[in-house]
Amino acid sequence: MFDLGRIREAVKYEGGVSRRLFVAYGGALAALPTLARASQSDANMSFSSNPFTLGVASGDPGAQQVVLWTRLAPSPTEPGGGMPNRVVSVNWEIATDDSMRSVVAKGTEFATPPLAHSVHVEVNGLEPGRWYWYRFHVGDAESPIGRTRTMPARNALPGELRFAFTSCQNYEQGLFTAYEHMVEQELDLVFHLGDYIYEYEAGRGGKVRTHIGNEINSLDDYRIRHSQYRTDPLLQAAHARCPWFLTFDDHEFDNNCAADISEEPHIDPADYLIRRANAYQAYYEMMPLPRRCLPQGPDMRLFRRASFGRLADFMVLDTRQYRTDQPNGDGKKPLNQSALLRTNTLLGAKQKNWLSRGLVSSQSLWNVLAQQVMMGMVGFPNQDSPLVYSMDQWPGYASERMELMQFMADRRVPNPVVLTGDIHSNWVNELRVDDRRPETNVIATEFVATSLSSGGNGPENPAGLGEILAHNPCVKFHNGERGYVSCTVTPEQWRADYLVVDDVLKPGGKVFPRASFVVESGNPIVHKA
Ligand code: FE
Ligand code: CA
Repeated sequence: MFDLGRIREAVKYEGGVSRRLFVAYGGALAALPTLARASQSDANMSFSSNPFTLGVASGDPGAQQVVLWTRLAPSPTEPGGGMPNRVVSVNWEIATDDSMRSVVAKGTEFATPPLAHSVHVEVNGLEPGRWYWYRFHVGDAESPIGRTRTMPARNALPGELRFAFTSCQNYEQGLFTAYEHMVEQELDLVFHLGDYIYEYEAGRGGKVRTHIGNEINSLDDYRIRHSQYRTDPLLQAAHARCPWFLTFDDHEFDNNCAADISEEPHIDPADYLIRRANAYQAYYEMMPLPRRCLPQGPDMRLFRRASFGRLADFMVLDTRQYRTDQPNGDGKKPLNQSALLRTNTLLGAKQKNWLSRGLVSSQSLWNVLAQQVMMGMVGFPNQDSPLVYSMDQWPGYASERMELMQFMADRRVPNPVVLTGDIHSNWVNELRVDDRRPETNVIATEFVATSLSSGGNGPENPAGLGEILAHNPCVKFHNGERGYVSCTVTPEQWRADYLVVDDVLKPGGKVFPRASFVVESGNPIVHKA
């Protein structure tokens, strides 16, 4: 796909990675679906095995539009997905009933080899705030029927929103049992906050099943890894049940990645950016994302806003792609001068401006940051130093984090709520400008969801729980089990149910609520339900 030689030459002669080459590459990709319209009809194409092995999905709904997704792959974990190396036309239809009788829109899209025969349909002109069903046809094959919905009209105040948020689904370390329960919950939306796949080689901490191949690097590697995850029937069922908003964290590319440079000094920066382009392209191909998220080489604009009428505004963040390198390395360190540098950024200038404008212009009752890493400044007790803080999370970027909290306080952003993944444990945190000063005002609530499967079964009470709670008055709940968080939002109240799975190492694990918390509108203090 890439001409490695040309990129190396560009590096050699221009003394840096040529942005221009990457942009040209991205531009060619964007033009392909248009070029494809010249291709012949595939109405008579016949498949010897099911091309819809990866299921269907929908995402990024607005009041009148939604993205419908599928990818043709009769052999999903083989290079090329078992598809012929040519453009294939795919028919789609969307209806207001589950038996697909009242079709309100239909059309044809093209599945192209450069985008791994993925199909992203942007359906417009739908009715706000209602459910739809959709499916695809290619040749003689028919996809399963997916269910999706639009968001309520921009100026409507819906009585209720029910959604789940989740993250961190290491395929080797646990079963995706939690998704089975999510499907039964009849939710409006799902937010996935990253670590959708893990890039590791087969067998790294494996407990229940095994990754295919070595640590992933090439475009085919990333595609096959995503395909392996998506063939999980429980994950597929959850995607088919309601629309998702997705954002990535580090493992969709490389562990604890930051800035444009690998943590491993021997990795050529050009190679690292090519690897990132591979990771982002495979991510785009596999997710129900709008075309405006199509990566341009190693750059992919994923931060975006979604409004559930005037009930809730979601600012979906990307705290990976634009961040400066972790200060003091990415482990736990004291919150010293280098962590507090004003030049440390998780958001980058562009995203920060976009976020500030979004928060100020929001007309919604609840204003939500759907993002990756923990914002609570949680200090962990340490033998030979004062408290230590995770440098890979917001405390490593404490100045920007405190500025953001101060901004939300100064601008009186209504009911700010932060949703977080990454850390593989459950937390409820009160957020202040500086969480080390419990005497100051609470500004927002942070709900941190544990991993869906990463790490395998975990303890209800993590090691050192008592000490963590004693040192961090901002922490209201901490738990080490697997699961996800389900939220019920009304104009009066935000309720977060922490659902846990009793055993992710065996099929049929039971899902049950471990703890529930509420925040009343107009009062950021969180309490137990
Ligand atoms: Fe993770
Ligand atoms: Ca992570």
